[in-house]
Amino acid sequence: MKSIFPFIPADLEPRTLVCGKCRHEFALPLTKRYGHKLSHVQPLDFHPVNNNVYWHLHSLGIPCPKCRENTQFLLPETPFKVVLPLYGDEACRQKEARCVYVLAFVGSDPRLEHAVRQEWDAMKTNIAPAQPPASWRLHMKELWKTSGGRRHPVFDSLTREQRVAATKKIADCYHSLNDRVFSFIAVYRAPKLSRATKQQALLSALAYMLERLCPRGTAPKITLESDQFAAGRPGMSYGTAHALEEFQRSLLYAILCRGLPVEDIAVARATESFWFELADYVAYVVARACLRRWQGTAPDLDPNTLGKAFWIGNQPGGNLFCDRCEGVPWEKFGGWPTTP
Ligand SMILES: [Zn+2]
Repeated sequence: MKSIFPFIPADLEPRTLVCGKCRHEFALPLTKRYGHKLSHVQPLDFHPVNNNVYWHLHSLGIPCPKCRENTQFLLPETPFKVVLPLYGDEACRQKEARCVYVLAFVGSDPRLEHAVRQEWDAMKTNIAPAQPPASWRLHMKELWKTSGGRRHPVFDSLTREQRVAATKKIADCYHSLNDRVFSFIAVYRAPKLSRATKQQALLSALAYMLERLCPRGTAPKITLESDQFAAGRPGMSYGTAHALEEFQRSLLYAILCRGLPVEDIAVARATESFWFELADYVAYVVARACLRRWQGTAPDLDPNTLGKAFWIGNQPGGNLFCDRCEGVPWEKFGGWPTTP
């Protein structure tokens, strides 16, 4: 079975432990599967502001590979400051024997959410002045579709030019929110879409978020959009939930979380948060730009307008590249055709 750990940060500290008995220095078993989750435990009435007391692991006995004696390993800890809710959506494009799977996560400090929502709603009102912004959902596939599909309360009445103008308004709005909105974007290539590709993208993105956010005392709280609600079976597919739990049973996960209350990944309906509209937009723009590269055509939705984002993607050799930058780091990801 392929490892579920595609992403171990190169500068992860600590990586070794010295045995208290024989002084042998050995590598920490980062990916060993423990019999229980090493994530925190929080009471049912936990609240990030009013009741933020939770239990977490301070240390763990690790057996020395030479003398078998346990040495206590103190887990790194960072004082807890804030929960950062991040909302995720996916997009996938296939061209012949190539597939790209994009997972986009967006969110802001909860204290800024109201202002972000106001700007987003103002943009929606600008597109459709007669419709209350909360009454309709901005869904890129429906905005860009040429014919067929479900009826949309706003887009159906728009001309081609109005749709292009609406797209520009969305792009400008998203760009103006860049200083308040976190964007984490995973770009995964595979010959075809499989459960393994989705798992790797999700776990890599999660590990990257933990690595970037937890040292600041920020605990990400991820909610994924699930269209499985429509099929009457809410929740992540078994394979993904299983892979996530494997990750949570590893020392790597506990080190990355730094003792913060990082909650399990949740799923929700698209209508449950306006953030899913932003996540849908980001995933759509990036997946479309990937497809256009393969087609040898210039992007019609410029991913540079997304502003600065945290990118993670698999390279042709099997390694991962991740960095915060503006626009898709095509060269760093490697193997992408240059733009025409
Ligand atoms: Zn020893």
